[in-house]
Amino acid sequence: MDMDELAQRVAAGERRALARAITLVESGRADHRAQAAQLLGALPTDRQALRVGLSGTPGVGKSTFIESFGMMLIAQDKRVAVLAVDPSSARSGGSILGDKTRMDRLSREAGAFIRPSPSQTHLGGVARRTREAVRLCEAAGFDVVLIETVGVGQSETAVAEMSDLFLLLLAPAGGDELQGVKRGIMEMADIIVVNKADGDLKATATRTCADYAGALRLLRKRPQDPDGFPKAMTVSALEDTGLAQVWSEMETLSAWRRDAGFWEQTRADQARYWFLEDVKQRLLARLGDPDTKAALSALSDDVASGAVDPAEAAQRFIDRL
Ligand code: GDP
Repeated sequence: MDMDELAQRVAAGERRALARAITLVESGRADHRAQAAQLLGALPTDRQALRVGLSGTPGVGKSTFIESFGMMLIAQDKRVAVLAVDPSSARSGGSILGDKTRMDRLSREAGAFIRPSPSQTHLGGVARRTREAVRLCEAAGFDVVLIETVGVGQSETAVAEMSDLFLLLLAPAGGDELQGVKRGIMEMADIIVVNKADGDLKATATRTCADYAGALRLLRKRPQDPDGFPKAMTVSALEDTGLAQVWSEMETLSAWRRDAGFWEQTRADQARYWFLEDVKQRLLARLGDPDTKAALSALSDDVASGAVDPAEAAQRFIDRL
């Protein structure tokens, strides 16, 4: 198919065209990559979805949250796309996200589009493909694109770098330890959402939320945030409580960032980030060429035997590239 035509169909919101376009950007074949580049270049650029990153460890309730949250947005006549970055699929070929039947109700909605994580050999590949899928969903006119990831490895950074807002989903925790959430991940979160605030877990959830609110106050306030952000809130994805409040805070924050110019600035910074990531990926891929490998191995031998200084060898190698 002609890529201009596919781009038009994506822009017209045709689901099959969107699915096909995502399959194309997920492909590693050189001819598909060329087509994908053409396709992405032909997309309209005047549409902006709210891109929302969502992270949480397995079992915390991500699918349940996305389903309830997505259904709430659908009820407000919003179109919702759900994508995933799953590093486990890169490592083992198996997937933590998206293998089971998830988001049953949401997947039946005409206004929703759900796509599991591409399985690729490395996180960089998964991330790039998902980022391109985000652009496709945006061009297809989705209002909100949720990008889900699991709280392991570097995937949170990747998702934060393709999101306008980042939510961290946590479970209620007994004791006063902060569930071993790394500071770096706390710093990425715009809203910490403590899920399962229902039944017997409600009191614990409220306490956990207060603990995190306290921890967030100790972090440096970010210039792109109005007062009160980042914040911690409780929800029950199962009982559908607190979700409207989370959405309202997300709208407040995104409106503020748009007005203050941080929205555009963040997207521009993200474009720079992905450009540099792509350069790194491509350089790493070059290291896999048989010729390059042989040169590397020969230089490595020279370094080991003392014939060449490591820095000098590295310079020769880079010059050769
Ligand atoms: P994921 O692995 O993060 O996607 O988590 P799931 O959405 O699959 O949920 C894991 C388990 O937690 C399931 O048994 C859910 O029913 C349960 N769960 C999810 N949200 C809630 C909630 O708000 N309250 C309670 N009590 N259980 C929940």
